[in-house]
Amino acid sequence: MSNTPPRMIPDPDGRNADFYRHLATGQLHIQHCETCGSVHHPPRFSCPSCGGEKLIFRPSSGEGRIFSWTVNHRPVDPGWADRLPYAIVVVEMNEGVRLVGAWAGELDSLALDQPVRAEVEKVDEHFAFLWFRGEGSDAKGR
Ligand SMILES: [Zn+2]
Repeated sequence: MSNTPPRMIPDPDGRNADFYRHLATGQLHIQHCETCGSVHHPPRFSCPSCGGEKLIFRPSSGEGRIFSWTVNHRPVDPGWADRLPYAIVVVEMNEGVRLVGAWAGELDSLALDQPVRAEVEKVDEHFAFLWFRGEGSDAKGR
């Protein structure tokens, strides 16, 4: 039996709360401006391109490519200790924005520009963890 405590569940606020509430539906959503069509992340209160305030979340393709990553050997949250070492990836989504998520694959399968897809681990109606996995790799336990 593991002595690892439960993972901390963040309590996001503001536009981050909107992002995670949409993620908790089980599908990644990205903020779009209804006025000019630009795409943003992190989400904002007004459009950085046109200043518009009609910003909506639309379902994402969930597809992107690895832009960068880091491997953690000491967890910030002790709840991740049983996953050490683990990778956090920055993914450039096909929609053009970059997101940060946890790597669901093997560490030796990480490669720059590798195609990946998003996976959502729902916690409750307000929060979900965002994971990324290499395209074509099998879904295994996280
Ligand atoms: Zn706009």
